[in-house]
Amino acid sequence: MTCIFCKIIAGDVPSFTIYEDEYVKAFLDISQTTKGHTLIIPKTHSENLLDVSNDEIAGALLKAVQIVSDKIQRTLQCEGFNIVSNIREVAGQTVFHTHIHVIPRYGISDGFQQMYSQNDPDFGKLEILQRQITEVL
Ligand code: AMP
Ligand code: ZN
Repeated sequence: MTCIFCKIIAGDVPSFTIYEDEYVKAFLDISQTTKGHTLIIPKTHSENLLDVSNDEIAGALLKAVQIVSDKIQRTLQCEGFNIVSNIREVAGQTVFHTHIHVIPRYGISDGFQQMYSQNDPDFGKLEILQRQITEVL
């Protein structure tokens, strides 16, 4: 069965497109977390951002994040953005076609909930982690 975002690319499901080029398409998220919440997706199916193996597509996704954010900033006058990509179910991914959320921010109480907490630094743990992660070839 074709995934919902592939159907959007094919034009079989409608979307409110705000940008597209050879590699990517950007359209308004159906459930606007904040005003202007946009999804950027590659036109070729992959499950998540880590599975994008083509460098041109990967580059086009990041370029589109910049282009779309600039358009939103100039039209909606947001103060900043959260750029998010949920990878797999555990992280909240619900549509398994690579997408990047561009979420405009208008202030602390604009509807977006902070994703991670600030903890006191533990330098011992940081050193162990650094060793562990850099050991991998
Ligand atoms: P995620 O939870 O990171 O996988 O994000 C999937 C996003 O896709 C959610 O924010 C949904 O609101 C959005 N979404 C699902 N179906 C559509 C659709 N047909 N058009 C626009 N956005 C959609
Ligand atoms: Zn797809």
